[in-house]
Amino acid sequence: MIRKFISRVLGRKSSGNRSEPAIIAVAQHGLQRDQISRGCRQTVEALQENGFLAYIVGGAVRDLLAGLTPKDFDVATNATPEQVRRCFRRSRIIGRRFQIVHVHMGSETIEVTTFRGHHNEEHAGNKAHTDAQGRVLRDNVFGSQAEDAARRDFTVNALYYDPTSEAIIDYHHGVADLQQKTLRMIGDPKTRYREDPVRMLRAVRLAAKLGLAIDPAARRPIREMADLIENVPPSRLFDEMLKLLTSGHALRCVTRLREEGLHNGVLPLLDVILEQPLGERFVKLALEATDRRVDQGKPISPGFLFATLLWHQLLATWEPLTRRGEPAIPSLFVAMDEVLNVQAEKLAITRRIAGDIKDIWGLQPRFEQRSGKRPYGVLQQPRFKAGYDFLLLRAESGEVDPTISVWWTDFLHAGDEARAAMLLPAPAGAAAKKRRRRRRRPPEGSAPNPSAPE
Ligand code: ATP
Ligand code: MG
Repeated sequence: MIRKFISRVLGRKSSGNRSEPAIIAVAQHGLQRDQISRGCRQTVEALQENGFLAYIVGGAVRDLLAGLTPKDFDVATNATPEQVRRCFRRSRIIGRRFQIVHVHMGSETIEVTTFRGHHNEEHAGNKAHTDAQGRVLRDNVFGSQAEDAARRDFTVNALYYDPTSEAIIDYHHGVADLQQKTLRMIGDPKTRYREDPVRMLRAVRLAAKLGLAIDPAARRPIREMADLIENVPPSRLFDEMLKLLTSGHALRCVTRLREEGLHNGVLPLLDVILEQPLGERFVKLALEATDRRVDQGKPISPGFLFATLLWHQLLATWEPLTRRGEPAIPSLFVAMDEVLNVQAEKLAITRRIAGDIKDIWGLQPRFEQRSGKRPYGVLQQPRFKAGYDFLLLRAESGEVDPTISVWWTDFLHAGDEARAAMLLPAPAGAAAKKRRRRRRRPPEGSAPNPSAPE
């Protein structure tokens, strides 16, 4: 017991540059070659036949060992990208910063990466470029397999599986950590977070996805280092947040982000939202629904997701404008731009997704209009279904009168006659207002009133 403990401690001490890996046989780990996709196996075999080392590595090995279905298969090899490309007819070198090769096998695309080398100061000549906070900006040196293992983030992510021998090459006790349900950082956690603060988000996501506890040494520094997230380019943060929110464990991840003090850098107002009972309930329902969809293999719309996460922030921005007497719809659009602009500084929501978010939000006040021709117009909107699902969530969270969402559900499923019978009478004074509006013409030469209702 004590020996095991000491050897573990010693093993950890040198975990950053261990070069003698454990070779773990299939009898011990149980991962069989037929669990690997055919395309991936063929890729590894072809590289091996050409005299190169080649393994399945990273998330796929980890997920299979944990009993999960991998999203994709990555291969690591000692062949250079050019050598890889020569082994496969259907392959292409991609990437500028660090070249990888996409190998096409049937309908599969396998990502083949050459072992990467060290990027710390100890290795003169291979010095990585870092920013003032120590974040690695360039890291594009080929290396040995041991070096490749050492530069991966967590021990469970540094496992190399050889489908030919069915053995796992384990440099950092990843198999044992997975069995003990621990997410452990390779090397010194603080240094690794400084090099790449996204690793803090990955820790939360992978722990939630795999049901692992973050090792205290890796967990402790997160709170004090959380601010480093602010240095990460917004587009990278967006990709990582999207992964986190579509992981199937979004609720657990967001709760955990908050517990670790990590949410400020990514969704700055999440704390404020989650402190209001209505906001908290709404976000919780939305994330639960997302996790259910992932579980059922249904697609997730990023626009819908971010629309839910930012909705109460939008309400908080919109409400003071209408309270000041500004017309509802134009001020809604002003509030939308404000919320999305603030968010864009942290997290680069793509233009297309921002468009989807606005469509969903913009439909919400229109659901309240249930007289005349308006409901028919709403039904015709391209984003009607998403807007309607959003309305259901609002009703479920208690923010909207449920008679409105029930009315829309009935209206959606009713035939023409039933629909006509469902329409509410025009609100008192609406007809007169409409007539007045028609009659009113702006005086000659005056600017159009931007806040006039549509
Ligand atoms: P998933 O595919 O479930 O998102 P993953 O661990 O496979 O999880 P990828 O982004 O596909 O994540 O990365 C593949 C592998 O590359 C990881 O398993 C890890 O070994 C390594 N890796 C990814 N991101 C980092 C990082 N920020 N720092 C160090 N190694 C990383
Ligand atoms: Mg992966």
